[in-house]
Amino acid sequence: MTHPAARSPFGLLLLAVLVGCGSSGGDVIALEGATLIDGSGGAPVQDALVIVKDRHVQAVARVNEVRVPRGAQVVNLIGKTIIPGLIDSHAHVERWAAQRYLAWGVTTVRDLGAASTDSAIAIKNDFDLGSVLGPRVLTAGAMIDGTPPTYPTATAVRTGTEIRRAVDQRAVAGAELVKIYTKVTPDLLPPLMDEANTLRLPVAAHLGKIDALTAARAGVASLEHMAGVVATASGNPGPYARAHDQFLRGWTTEEMGWASLDSGAVARTARALAATRVAIVPTLVVHEMLSRLDNPTLLSRPGMEDVPAGAATVRDVAGLLRRSGWRTTELQAFRRSRRRQDQFVREFARAGGGIAAGSDAANQLLVPGLSLHEEMSLLVAAGLTPIEAITAATRKGAELLRADSLGWVAAGKVADLVVLDGNPAAGIGNTRRIAWVMVRGRILYPDSLRRTWAK
Ligand SMILES: [Zn+2]
Repeated sequence: MTHPAARSPFGLLLLAVLVGCGSSGGDVIALEGATLIDGSGGAPVQDALVIVKDRHVQAVARVNEVRVPRGAQVVNLIGKTIIPGLIDSHAHVERWAAQRYLAWGVTTVRDLGAASTDSAIAIKNDFDLGSVLGPRVLTAGAMIDGTPPTYPTATAVRTGTEIRRAVDQRAVAGAELVKIYTKVTPDLLPPLMDEANTLRLPVAAHLGKIDALTAARAGVASLEHMAGVVATASGNPGPYARAHDQFLRGWTTEEMGWASLDSGAVARTARALAATRVAIVPTLVVHEMLSRLDNPTLLSRPGMEDVPAGAATVRDVAGLLRRSGWRTTELQAFRRSRRRQDQFVREFARAGGGIAAGSDAANQLLVPGLSLHEEMSLLVAAGLTPIEAITAATRKGAELLRADSLGWVAAGKVADLVVLDGNPAAGIGNTRRIAWVMVRGRILYPDSLRRTWAK
């Protein structure tokens, strides 16, 4: 794919002539006539004009409100909708998924736990520096867990000194955040937060042995999968903490526990958590897939064809069922829990809490790129408006990443955007109708990307 803007000698000459009069059209793209959903959360703007220059958005206006620079490449987008490049706030990035993310409009990924910090930084550098075509990656490196760690790839810590060292190692390696996992205990929170705040690294928390309100009040940035919420809302976190001595037992107890919660307790917990300013990354798509593991059609749903044969985890439903021992009883309970999870998300949003969309790809049934669109649909089904769901997958993700140049189509921001054939404000499913994607000012077509990985 080449940059669509003119690079002819004449263009350079023209540029040279125009420098000084301030109206250079060199490498300028003017996107005219689309409906713009800019990521801010505001109402869609009709007849928008978006001017892109030097890989950044130079101006956003209505058509004819500002003059299009002479020589600009004008792209007519009447009938289309522009949204910001999507941000997946919870993913585990693998190299095979690089172009899949882009084809689905995901231009930034918050990577929450890799095989090693070094491998995560290597992927990040390859994508960011352009040797591999892929989304921008901000990474937590390897996860930090208590003992014994759930995965051997995590850094297991026992003491305050050890957790401080684990945070330091990630800062030195170039990680942008840290991720704590289920076996981290409450006594490790103060040294963790002290070190992370000193180094200005936000903490993403997949909780197990700590309840959500305790972690939120200590200052973690995000609650992943809403883990720890059941423990808080139950009013009796002890049994949940003990169940998390063993990862799958903790997971099962918590996933089933949602169904037993009182709706008033869920509402109170949502308000208490929103007041702490913690963000949630609910990954409803994870909970939805867990509740439907016995549905074989999910393995062949549209979009699964983007997953290569070698990407074993996405298709490993049988393995997960074997390891977890989940049968009809558990899956039925998971299905009953979905209503409470949706209620929590809705109440948390109503209380002013920040919600970011994440997919947890490439775990079981979770497809890089596609599953972020499924998450937006599930957020709407839970009670968010389509605009709120898009904001969760754009600006709210940027805020979690502390990247104010991303997630918003506005002057001065990076030119990452998605052009859609339908308006998602009228139906969130329209986020999947992608005409093309702009990454750092470069236009990519999903069909062309699919042809490259089909080879
Ligand atoms: Zn995850």
